[in-house]
Amino acid sequence: MLIRGSCHCGNISFELNWLPDPTEIPARACNCSFCTKHGGVWTSLPTGSLRISIEEPALVSKYAFGTGTARFDICGRCGVVPLVTSKTDGGLYAVVKRQCLQRSPPLDSAPCSGFVRGRRFGVTFGPPHA
Ligand SMILES: [Zn+2]
Repeated sequence: MLIRGSCHCGNISFELNWLPDPTEIPARACNCSFCTKHGGVWTSLPTGSLRISIEEPALVSKYAFGTGTARFDICGRCGVVPLVTSKTDGGLYAVVKRQCLQRSPPLDSAPCSGFVRGRRFGVTFGPPHA
């Protein structure tokens, strides 16, 4: 299932290819000091893939703290934080904010406790969508 998502204004958008089709989308409310302040609830899937598109890169603030391994992409236009990326083990991984997903049916029954630490999407970066 292809699940689209974005920040509020659409500057940062993504396509999450969730395979196999989900019956529910597990998500985890992160309790780190930053996510506690902005209400970050994240989802990810080790077998999925993620394509991120950014219309105006200059309007994206990249925020990191602590060890700096996780980079929060904050839209400088609308202020939403739709995803977090991390370069680990030679690859780029990400989690996406559950509140930024556009598909709602499979999300409604989702528990908020199914996230397994370290499971993240593979990421490719692409041009903005037409
Ligand atoms: Zn935005």
